[in-house]
Amino acid sequence: MTLHALEGHERPREALGRAHSKNGLPAVLLLHGPKGVGKQRLALWTGQLILCERASGEPCGECRSCRMSLRLEHPDLLWYFPIKRPPSKGSRERDREAAEEVRSEIIARVRENALVPSYSEDPLGLHLATVRNLKKEASRGPAVGTRRVFVLAEAQELVSQEASPEAANALLKLLEEPPDSCRFVLTSSEPGRLLPTVESRTTSLHVPSLPEDDVARFLSRFTEASPEEIDKATKLSAGSIGRALGYLPDQDDPGPLERIRQDAFALLRAALSDHPADRFAAALSRPPSGARGLHELFQSLETWLRDLSALASYRDAPVLNLDARAWLLKTVESRSIDPFRPAECVTVVERARSLAAGNVNPQLILSWLLADLHDALASAGSLVPDEA
Ligand SMILES: [Zn+2]
Repeated sequence: MTLHALEGHERPREALGRAHSKNGLPAVLLLHGPKGVGKQRLALWTGQLILCERASGEPCGECRSCRMSLRLEHPDLLWYFPIKRPPSKGSRERDREAAEEVRSEIIARVRENALVPSYSEDPLGLHLATVRNLKKEASRGPAVGTRRVFVLAEAQELVSQEASPEAANALLKLLEEPPDSCRFVLTSSEPGRLLPTVESRTTSLHVPSLPEDDVARFLSRFTEASPEEIDKATKLSAGSIGRALGYLPDQDDPGPLERIRQDAFALLRAALSDHPADRFAAALSRPPSGARGLHELFQSLETWLRDLSALASYRDAPVLNLDARAWLLKTVESRSIDPFRPAECVTVVERARSLAAGNVNPQLILSWLLADLHDALASAGSLVPDEA
């Protein structure tokens, strides 16, 4: 198996290709933009470009080096990314080996199926062991050509771990004086969280969201989803292929982001319910810890509120949750919802999000959230439609 073709992003590609053909690619490049839009794919493309034997403005795709890059088997194209922390093995050397094993397993899986949704249920980090592995590889010369390219994904995750100062410092030294043969391509979906010292060593290039047509075309070319599923996933994707993939079913699994969207829908129904018991039940259905995992749920809840607000403004407004249009419309009408009410609710969600960042008990956060949403949306004597 090889990596799928890189979809869209013509402008960043042209800029990178032009710089490369003039020998002007910086030693440390940062690709930043929304999550799941293809930054890591573009970073690997850039690595392929640097290593290609016949590259001009873009990689030829045919030389031995390109073929190895596309199979993720090029010994001089090294890809590092945040992983779940492996349990400590008691020594620095064995921790490094454990991190390398996880990395290799993930790359092997991507080789089999590169269509991985941009979502993880576990907190991921760039741990010290990963940075040590990267440093060790950087101290070696190229295996086949004259360059080694290091892709370091979601570089802001260097700061979220307790070993952060050490991991970040180890990397900083390398970025400060990169060996002549080394090129670094960092990616970040939250460049605001990058250490200023890391950021100051990079030349950055913005990678924007993709137009809906690009996302839909990609899904119909590379997945087996039905046209309806593609439509729905595209609308919810916000121009990100990685997020769109999270809304598509995979055998019996409806998709990780689709599951969260259904959970958010259940919350909205509980918020609208005339029975406080429904809100308590919804809040208690979450585990009592792990508030930081609520981030996606809140984001999804905002899409539902946005749809209510849009339909309350006018009946023919486009919605994100295409499959629930009839339910949303019925809700807006039976409750005479004012377009500003759901919009105000976004502030309520924002407050819940900051409580979650402070790691408050998720059941408490949700009880407050649902009570506040209920007060903001409620109107006397109305009923919620039963089914979506
Ligand atoms: Zn080539």
